[in-house]
Amino acid sequence: MEDHRGLSRRQFLYVAAVGAAAVSTGGILTMSDQAQAAPAIVQPPLPYADNALEPVISQKTIGFHYGKHHAAYVANANKLLAGSDLAGLPLEEIIKRSAGDKDKVGIFNNAAQVWNHTFYWLSMKPGGGGQPGGELLKKIQADFGGFDQFVEAFSNAAATQFGSGWAWLVLADGKLMVTKTANAETPLTTKAKPLLTIDVWEHAYYLDYQNRRPDYIKDWLAKLANWDFAQKNLLG
Ligand code: MN
Repeated sequence: MEDHRGLSRRQFLYVAAVGAAAVSTGGILTMSDQAQAAPAIVQPPLPYADNALEPVISQKTIGFHYGKHHAAYVANANKLLAGSDLAGLPLEEIIKRSAGDKDKVGIFNNAAQVWNHTFYWLSMKPGGGGQPGGELLKKIQADFGGFDQFVEAFSNAAATQFGSGWAWLVLADGKLMVTKTANAETPLTTKAKPLLTIDVWEHAYYLDYQNRRPDYIKDWLAKLANWDFAQKNLLG
C-alpha cells in the first residue's frame, strides 16, 4: 500500500510539473528536468475545455472556480511560501509538513486547496459517471456490498459535510472507504490513499444548483465521475 501511495504521489506531481513545464518553456521535459526546475507551486491546466462539463457544471462556474478560486490558492500559497523553510519543496511535502502547525495554517490551507482542486478536476470527465468497470467495480462491490451502496455512502458523506469541504473515495488499509473533510483538510495527511473527490464548497455548485447540493452530487455521480482516474489511483 505504501508503494501504491508513493507512486500515486509521483504521478500526481508529474501532472503538476507537466503543467508548469508547458507554461514556462512550451517544451517537453523529462521527470528529472522537472524536479530540478520545480520551485513554485503551479496550477496545472484544466484537463478539458471550460464548458466540457456542462450542463452539470457550467462554463461560468469553471471560470470562477478554476480561474479565480483555484488560481488564488496557488497565488496565495506562493506568496506565503516565499521566505518559508518549506519553499521549494514538492507540494505534497509542503502540505504534510505544514499540517497541524499553528504557525503555518495559511500555508497549509492554500497548499492543500491547490492539491485538492487539481485532484478534483481530474476526478471528473465529460461523459463520465455511472458505474465503473474492471477491478474498481469488483472492489466497490466487495467493500461496500454493491455499487448502489457505494453511491449512497458517497452521496451521504458529500451531502452531510457541514459547511465547506470535500467527500472522498479512499483506499485505507486495503479497503475502499468513503470519507469527508472540512475546508482544506485532505486525506494526504492520513494513511488513506485518495482515489476520487467531489468539492462540496458552495462555490463548486451554487451558480448552477443554488442550495440544492444533493442534486449537484447526484448529477456529478451520474454524469461526471472519472472512474478511469479512480481506477488508475487504485491500481497505481
Ligand atoms: Mn473549490
